[in-house]
Formats: sequence, C-alpha cells, structure tokens
Amino acid sequence: MKTAGYATRTSRSSNPDRVTREILLSFWKVHILHHAEEMPIYGQWIVEELRHHGYRISPGTLYPLLKRMEENGWIKSTTSQKSFVRGRKEYRLTREGSRILSFLRVQLEELYGEVVREARGRRRSVVREGQARNLGGR
Ligand SMILES: [Zn+2]
Repeated sequence: MKTAGYATRTSRSSNPDRVTREILLSFWKVHILHHAEEMPIYGQWIVEELRHHGYRISPGTLYPLLKRMEENGWIKSTTSQKSFVRGRKEYRLTREGSRILSFLRVQLEELYGEVVREARGRRRSVVREGQARNLGGR
C-alpha cells in the first residue's frame, strides 16, 4: 500500500494521521525487526527503505519509535566505529526481538490468509457470479 495514493483517496473522516498512528506504525516496527535481523540498520537507511514501500516517516517519528523498541529489548543499538560513519547508531535484532519476529510472522501469515487471500477469492467469486449472470441473461 502506498501512503501517498492512500492519502489522496481518503476522506477527511478517516484522517491518514490517525491511520498512521493506529496501524501503520505497527507495520513499520515489523519492517524494522525484519531488516534488523538481516543486517545492522540505521535511521536514514530505514527512512529510505520505508520510502521504497511508499511510506513517509519523519525522523521525529522514527527515532522515538526506535528508542521504544530498544527499551522493549527487541533491538540493540551500537555506535559505529568505522571511520567513514563514525558515531552512527546501528540497530541489531536481539534474541528477544528474534522471538517476537517469529511470533509476528505466524500472526502475519494468518492475517494475510484471511484479510488478503480469502478476501481476494471472495471478490473473484463475486466477479464470476456477475459474469455467469451476464451470460445467463443473453
Ligand atoms: Zn522493508
């Protein structure tokens, strides 16, 4: 889902900021856990990664979020000693974070199965019924 397209399609009553706070923030945390498992990641990288997915996250949202995730023990930051990026904070998944991520993957699969796959199948069968009706009418 692209945030930009989403925002333009949304009416005022379903304020995109509210959707961001209530729902997308959780998606972003899952992204962070997933990528921190693959390699050490840092703030600007996360901003760009999420931008590729169509999300725009400000540093004012991202850094407090990373801090909370670290306080929860899911990720751990270290300060890079590599000369060309000295002082950069890098985040890695902790053992607890890895446990949470495994749990979330099961939850996501379940959610995806119902919310996406099942719903898609339902929409298709509605289309098929519609086509059958049109054919029957001829
Ligand atoms: Zn991602």
